[in-house]
Amino acid sequence: MALPADSHVHTEWSWDSPLGDMAGTCARAVELGLPAVVLTEHLDTTVWRPLRDDGIELPPGTGADGLLRPPPLDVDGYLESVERCRIRFPGLRILTGAELGEPHRNIDAARPLLDAGGFDRVLGSLHSIELEGEFVEPPTLFAALDPDEVLQRWFGELADLAGSPAPYDVLTHLDYPLRHRPVDAPPFAWSRHEAGVREALSRLAGSGRALELNTRLPLTPMVLLWWIEEGGRTISIGSDAHRPEDVGRGLQEAAAVAGGLGFGPGERPADLWRLG
Ligand SMILES: [Zn+2]
Ligand SMILES: [Zn+2]
Repeated sequence: MALPADSHVHTEWSWDSPLGDMAGTCARAVELGLPAVVLTEHLDTTVWRPLRDDGIELPPGTGADGLLRPPPLDVDGYLESVERCRIRFPGLRILTGAELGEPHRNIDAARPLLDAGGFDRVLGSLHSIELEGEFVEPPTLFAALDPDEVLQRWFGELADLAGSPAPYDVLTHLDYPLRHRPVDAPPFAWSRHEAGVREALSRLAGSGRALELNTRLPLTPMVLLWWIEEGGRTISIGSDAHRPEDVGRGLQEAAAVAGGLGFGPGERPADLWRLG
């Protein structure tokens, strides 16, 4: 089976990707035989508190108050870099994109950058939720709360994001907290969170948006089945690579799962996959 496009890729233009390299990513995509990439750089407007842990360097953008204010995307620099890559890699279809963090909290905050970018594809994502008056990431949540409580709160806010009129096309990594579950936590059971996940999927389907299969963690086919049952008709597949060597990772396996459930590629390589 032909490889799908990698529709979720970060390069050096994302504030959290010091090892990113747009030209290197495109070269790797060509080497792998990917037909297309969507370069979805971070566009974050939430101010949050990263995990404080002595010995771990705090991310760029973290202030003296310990709060992270993600630097804005240099839209012009990014677009110029995309143009250079399109000339250098004519056989690879390169789409522009952005990953909009928590756009439901402040729908208009990112609009000037979105308008300036005119992006081909915009992902919507959730990386933090509120705990004791501050936005924090999953490692902090798991340190403070029972794992099931974390997931319950997470899927609750994910439903808010899924149903919001925020300007994005695809909901990415709905399983984001699972990347950070403590190793000693009991095995995760999607079935315990079925109602919350279905609510988010139902609102997403109602909004006409697509669900992403983010291949950082293989998504259980059961969630894709729920997506179909809740009215979902389109998906996107992406590696969420933050450096060239990770582009394309897991795409073949995810495409096989999606294909097995009746999803197939569109006319052009980076089109959303549709249920046949
Ligand atoms: Zn993300
Ligand atoms: Zn991402």
